[in-house]
Amino acid sequence: MASAVSMKDVLSCPAHILPDVTLTPMDPDAAPKYKPPSSILIIGAGVFGLSTALALTKRPEFASTTSITVLDRSPDPGVFPARDASSIDSSRIIRPDYADPAYAALASEAQAHWRQTDPASLGGEGRYTESGFILASDSGPMEREDGSPTGIAYAKKSWINALALAQREGRPLSTVRMLPYSQSIAKMSGTGGEFADWGYINDASGWADAERSMKWFFEKVAATGRITFANGTAESLETDDSTKRVTGARLKDGSTLSADLVIVAAGAWTPTLVDLSSQAVATGQVLGYLELTEEEQAKLEKIPVLLNISTGFFVIPPRNRVLKVARHGYGYLNPKPLAKPPSGIPGSKATSKLVSQPYTHLDNSALSIPPEGETALRKALRKIIPWPELQDRPFSKTRLCWYTDTPTGDWIIDHHPYWNGLFIATGGSGHAFKFLPVIGDKVVDCIMGKCPVEFQKKWKWRETQVTETPIVTQDGSRGGKIGLILETEMNQVQT
Ligand SMILES: Cc1cc2nc3c(=O)[nH]c(=O)nc-3n(C[C@H](O)[C@H](O)[C@H](O)COP(=O)(O)OP(=O)(O)OC[C@H]3O[C@@H](n4cnc5c(N)ncnc54)[C@H](O)[C@@H]3O)c2cc1C
Repeated sequence: MASAVSMKDVLSCPAHILPDVTLTPMDPDAAPKYKPPSSILIIGAGVFGLSTALALTKRPEFASTTSITVLDRSPDPGVFPARDASSIDSSRIIRPDYADPAYAALASEAQAHWRQTDPASLGGEGRYTESGFILASDSGPMEREDGSPTGIAYAKKSWINALALAQREGRPLSTVRMLPYSQSIAKMSGTGGEFADWGYINDASGWADAERSMKWFFEKVAATGRITFANGTAESLETDDSTKRVTGARLKDGSTLSADLVIVAAGAWTPTLVDLSSQAVATGQVLGYLELTEEEQAKLEKIPVLLNISTGFFVIPPRNRVLKVARHGYGYLNPKPLAKPPSGIPGSKATSKLVSQPYTHLDNSALSIPPEGETALRKALRKIIPWPELQDRPFSKTRLCWYTDTPTGDWIIDHHPYWNGLFIATGGSGHAFKFLPVIGDKVVDCIMGKCPVEFQKKWKWRETQVTETPIVTQDGSRGGKIGLILETEMNQVQT
């Protein structure tokens, strides 16, 4: 069973106190008998939606008798998910390096799939690269004033869990090496950048080509022949108030799709369909891409993934002469009114009038990022890769990508407490991509009442509370300023 370590443990020699980083399956006899629905509609074909679809096809309970439809607002016929989904990008970090041992254990399960690199497997044909990963932080206190962990606390707990996983997976502990000074980080980074004060390198972490991995995964799901894919935007959920049941979705074109079970896996758009006030919020995150010369590509393609978890800035090794720099931050809020209120608990006082919603390059092809974000990315790049030739090279492309943030960074994978026939699978909080090969299995376990023990509380629907304070993910992994409003920041002048 995954067990947490105390701060005292973290600061002492770890070798003999490594925590147990395994997940406990739920006793199958303890789960209620599950009666599968005859039809399922999954809204969203990102990591959560596609992975769930594949897992459903593998379960005997849902075999042949249950029809399964995946709906996505992707405007390109037959293309799933939409190109502005957060699951689509040049790269995503694949790391079991988590402060929370339960996510570390689950990420280790996922990594067993990513490490299958024969051409027919997920990690094959360059979809996964085990480059190593430096997780580093600024020095300072372990806790903020509100008691939430800081970056250094996250980094040190993660280091312990990474060592524990090395031991469990039979790798030498030397595959996880402490980097106690900024100089050791600079040396190990391969860039010379003194971008943090303390950290470690995990040789067993890496990165994935997200777009190509999603394509591979979509094709695998489609090849089952069990799923109907539909292009279209769900505008609202259809409900039957007398039975307190969600019966399907109404689409923007006026048509409806009916199902006995509706799984909303719409990523950062989920709060537009289901009232998630005080539980999850869409936050816009900045990315910058820099074109490199062949020589620079050759020098940088062997570096590990580099992350300062206190500031949130990270660099992923380049592919095809494009380097990516991004910020795992608190992000921008984009509060806007909705044409139709999201499905909530009738009479709930918590329903917000304005809901933060994604705004992407599919809404506006000329969309750039706020000057604050661009300046911050530039500053971070100079620190992480302090090479004169890259200092002022303009970004060839920038992007706003949307997280579905929860207060703790835990996902929401649960039946809706009021509406029968409604299940929520979201709350990726900027770290769910790596779980693509395993998350669907866990979603299906939770649908059937068999949520893994360690995640039962973490993934539960939280009681909606009346609060005007915006949701802020305080798991120690975020940088930037809290509460920035996208529209205001877009109108600022670059400094
Ligand atoms: C900049 C950035 C960097 C990240 N880095 C990492 C990383 O390094 N490692 C990692 O593990 N994770 C990372 N993540 C997080 C990870 O990518 C996400 O947690 C994950 O992809 C979320 O998947 P999802 O299925 O919830 O959402 P999405 O991929 O956004 O999928 C939701 C889908 O729902 C569809 N949809 C929405 N509304 C509707 C509607 N009304 N009707 C029909 N369809 C709808 C959308 O079109 C979309 O395709 C990062 C995310 C971002 C944005």
